[in-house]
Amino acid sequence: MVEEHQPYRVTVGPEVQLPSGLIVMCTELTGEDQEDLTYQRTMDQYARSLNRVMARRVSVAGKTVEPSWVENLLSGDRVAILYHLRRLSLGDDWRFECKCPNANCSRYKKKFPAFASFDDESVKISPYPHGELRRIEVSVFDKGIVRKIEISLLTGVEERQVVKANQNVGLTTMLQVRRPVEVIEREDGESERKGLDLKRESLGFLQSLVSTVSENEPDITDVYVSVNCPECDTEILIDPLGDPSFLFPASSGRTST
Ligand SMILES: [Zn+2]
Repeated sequence: MVEEHQPYRVTVGPEVQLPSGLIVMCTELTGEDQEDLTYQRTMDQYARSLNRVMARRVSVAGKTVEPSWVENLLSGDRVAILYHLRRLSLGDDWRFECKCPNANCSRYKKKFPAFASFDDESVKISPYPHGELRRIEVSVFDKGIVRKIEISLLTGVEERQVVKANQNVGLTTMLQVRRPVEVIEREDGESERKGLDLKRESLGFLQSLVSTVSENEPDITDVYVSVNCPECDTEILIDPLGDPSFLFPASSGRTST
């Protein structure tokens, strides 16, 4: 079977402005990048490999960057870079396979070919309200009082800590990696800082803290792709970054149409 050759439709230039406001230049993915990402066995190794790939492909104001610099980027910036590298290297069109999650459908769990096309609007991640700031202070209501909490926004560093936690990641783990510190104003006008013991805090407070922090981070699911099952029309939401064929089309195998 001879596959039809389709030229890549590339509509982006090397420069991209990230959700934090930072501007970076990208170069196309290479065979070396593919090799690097392909042979990683654990999620942690894969995360490190992604940092190396991004570091090879990104420069800032004419200067090259290190994997540690990439790892310290805010999560939304990292996602934006990966989408940009994809579009720059392989174009806007993405052919992939997905499965219907509806147990009553005749295509339940059966693969079907799907298609998505990215443009500047569809991959737009909303900007960080605090720009490149990594630690922010938020006010959280707790049983009628307002508590001030200093907390980290997610970067590749915290993401990797979550991966390493290697367990069902619950609310406390997700918050612990953000190293929350309570800022207590004393009567003498000085302020005291105290690490939060999350296990002793009420679930209600933890939940408010999570939602308050997430108001200061873009919602990455905005750039997920929506597909409808051709049989039952169920909507399926797909994170392209979780599908190897997003960066490397050959890894998806053949799709029969
Ligand atoms: Zn279906």
